[in-house]
Amino acid sequence: MTLGSGKNRLKIKGKFLAFFSIMPLLLATALIRVPCPICGGSGFVSSTGMEGVRISKIESSTQSTSLQACANYRLYNMEITMTLFNSGTRDADGFIDLYLLNYSTGTILDNEFTVEIIPAETEITDTFNSYFKVEVDTTGPVTVTAAVEKSGVACKACNGAGKVALNAWPFYNSMKANFTETQRIFKPYVAPVFIQPEH
Ligand SMILES: [Zn+2]
Repeated sequence: MTLGSGKNRLKIKGKFLAFFSIMPLLLATALIRVPCPICGGSGFVSSTGMEGVRISKIESSTQSTSLQACANYRLYNMEITMTLFNSGTRDADGFIDLYLLNYSTGTILDNEFTVEIIPAETEITDTFNSYFKVEVDTTGPVTVTAAVEKSGVACKACNGAGKVALNAWPFYNSMKANFTETQRIFKPYVAPVFIQPEH
């Protein structure tokens, strides 16, 4: 009994000590902003795990260009080799936007998309062909650039800012699985519409 209450008092004392040493620390850390653990600092959460995906390398070469549909448009067949890295802890399965760029003028001539599956914490390299529709009189050097389509929604933990206070970080980090789950709102990707030319 005596031993029990002694232990209890020690516990309470310990709690007070913890309180008085932690409080100033909390106040100080409230001012320090760190990358949000939920969205990894991007400010939004993807429904497909694409938030951790980065394009580390992209190369393209023109395979052929041809006039299509009674010379209504020119079709570029581009061979693209892309290296993607998924730093996330879950597998990603989503869209990559592709842009055909005239690199002498810097204008986007057309956009397309491709689907990639990148396992968690893995780098993949994919080579594929993509077709772009441009105006008939388009000439000049072209290249393909790409961007990860995150189909994301603003992160609820940081309100889309990408950063949280350091003192809130452990809280959000421990809630991570929960947060990611509730934020995963299904938002279908709206692909660019390809209109079949009339003959
Ligand atoms: Zn966030």
